[in-house]
Amino acid sequence: MRDIAHFFADGSSSPATRFSDVFDPNSGAVQARVGLGTAADLDKAVALAQAAQPAWAATNPQRRARVMFKFKELIEKNMDSLAHLLSSEHGKVIADAKGDIQRGLEVIEFACGIPHVLKGEFTIGAGPGIDVYSMRQPLGIVAGITPFNFPAMIPMWMFGVAIAVGNAFILKPSERDPSVPVRLAELMKEAGLPDGILQVVQGDKVMVDAILDHEAISAVSFVGSSDIAHYVYQRGVAAGKRVQAMGGAKNHGIVMPDADLDQVVNDLAGAAFGSAGERCMALPVVVPVGNDTADRLRAKLIPAIEALRVGVSTDAEAHYGPVVTAAHKAKIESYIQMGVDEGAELVVDGRGFTLQGHEKGFFVGPTLFDQVKPSMQSYQEEIFGPVLQIVRAANFEEALALPSQHQYGNGVAIFTRNGHAAREFAARVNVGMVGINVPIPVPVAYHTFGGWKRSAFGDTNQHGMEGIKFFTKVKTVTQRWPDGGDNGDSAFVIPTMG
Ligand code: NAD
Repeated sequence: MRDIAHFFADGSSSPATRFSDVFDPNSGAVQARVGLGTAADLDKAVALAQAAQPAWAATNPQRRARVMFKFKELIEKNMDSLAHLLSSEHGKVIADAKGDIQRGLEVIEFACGIPHVLKGEFTIGAGPGIDVYSMRQPLGIVAGITPFNFPAMIPMWMFGVAIAVGNAFILKPSERDPSVPVRLAELMKEAGLPDGILQVVQGDKVMVDAILDHEAISAVSFVGSSDIAHYVYQRGVAAGKRVQAMGGAKNHGIVMPDADLDQVVNDLAGAAFGSAGERCMALPVVVPVGNDTADRLRAKLIPAIEALRVGVSTDAEAHYGPVVTAAHKAKIESYIQMGVDEGAELVVDGRGFTLQGHEKGFFVGPTLFDQVKPSMQSYQEEIFGPVLQIVRAANFEEALALPSQHQYGNGVAIFTRNGHAAREFAARVNVGMVGINVPIPVPVAYHTFGGWKRSAFGDTNQHGMEGIKFFTKVKTVTQRWPDGGDNGDSAFVIPTMG
């Protein structure tokens, strides 16, 4: 049995006493086990980070950027093997695994521009002989806690920015697919990153709590489900840390009567079922406006869903692969049953799906519900599987209210040819990321990623300038260089520049 362990700066190991199974979702077999770390393991990583961080912070930003350039090159060189490793633990198809890596790499590309980004602000002559300037300095030791569904992209969202600005970063990846994060750390070392600036500690709640309580860790970036995000936010803030904690989602796609329905169905198939629906920016709820739109959409959706190919993650023809674990498959299927019990109309049932030759794999067939009502629990909660729910709205205002009033507010999309409706929707919807005829509106790396309401706790987004802000503290200097002449009178009133 392959053991997956921590990645410490000094290359040492730390034998675990508790383990978690890592599955091959295609076959259902246990393929490895990951050792679950303790607070003592974290102490070791922190000590190594503390020894390395001051020199890294003092390294000029161009040199820090060169490590990022080299890392980008190495990721590109290793793309195939990384994608296969990722796919083998997560279950997403290879092309999608490459997308996962590529979207993270785009944040590394953003981090290559760090010398420009860190230039700060300067005002000459803010008062008589007085200049004011600001600088952004690293926080010191920071940590990231990441979910299973993007084991490459989300760690890179965090460490790309955190390291480029001069921090040491400790990553606690999901225990369900922990191999790719370790591989990323190895490649950063190969790219020339000094030992101690990126380490990986493996674990579960015990390690998360140790991170949240550790006095030497200044900031924690978390991505995962909302209840845990909220817990991480509260505990981290109570310990005096800066915390950003992204949570779950239930993204809606509003379909206006004038939308190009063939395009919508095409977009929905990918956005609802791609990666087996295990994306925080998946589109699991579609809201056609008007019954005529709903009926036309449903008629086109059924054959499109029936044509989807579910296969092993290495099948180049498959649209999506298995879900991550048997427990997650059972949870998705129980939500489908819940929808039936609540009175929604089950149009396509993906339960009981098996793939010949892979009967024990964690596959769930594509599922479609119609007549889903906002009062249903299966609508209110995140299912995180290949399940699409149609919620019919009578008009634009009713459609706008659905995502706006939902507990989650990560992403939303509107499909229309009407610019006025789209503009109105984007301005008024109570959700953090909006797509206009774009089903998965994940912002590019130099913009920022973050939802609203229970989809994110804290006040800064991931990557882009918000990421820079999160992983640095600003220092503002007011300077005067008197010429030694008239020293003037002491000032007993608050200085003004008047
Ligand atoms: P999860 O909440 O189960 O796990 C996330 C992290 O928290 C993991 O590292 C895990 O080890 C840790 N953890 C798990 N249980 C814990 C506990 N009781 N106490 C402390 N830490 C704990 O999430 P997941 O299933 O790995 O990922 C899927 C979820 O993440 C979905 O809800 C999805 O919407 C969300 N997600 C959100 C975003 C976003 O940016 N908003 C992006 C990706 C995924």
